[in-house]
Amino acid sequence: MEIAQTTMCPTCHQTVLPSYYFCPNCGAKLNAPPLSTSIGAQAWLYFFSLILPMICYLAVTKWQGFKYYKSADPKTKKIGMIACGLLLLSTVFTIWYAIYWTQQEIQSSVSAINADMGAY
Ligand SMILES: [Zn+2]
Repeated sequence: MEIAQTTMCPTCHQTVLPSYYFCPNCGAKLNAPPLSTSIGAQAWLYFFSLILPMICYLAVTKWQGFKYYKSADPKTKKIGMIACGLLLLSTVFTIWYAIYWTQQEIQSSVSAINADMGAY
C-alpha cells in the first residue's frame, strides 16, 4: 500500500485526507479517533484507576476458598473444593475469552487491511 497525500474511503471510494477520522461522504470510520480528554472521560478513568486495585485487593483478601479447602471438616472442605473449581472455571473462561477477543481483533484488522487493498 503506497502512502499518498490523499487516501480513498474503503466504503464509498471517495478521496479523503489521511488525517480524517471519518469519511465526510459516507461517515465510515477511517482512523481511530484520539482518546477523549474531556472532564467526564478523565473522571471515569481516574475513578476506575482508584477503584480497580481496591476491587482486586478485596477479591484476593476476602476470597476464602483455600481456607475452606484446608479445613479438616469434610463438609467445609467440599465447599472449598467447589469454590476452587468455580474459580478455576472462571479463570479458564476469562483467559479463553481474552485470547478469543484478541484473535477477533487481529482478524478484523487483517480483513480491514485486505478490504483496503482490494479497493485499490
Ligand atoms: Zn466513504
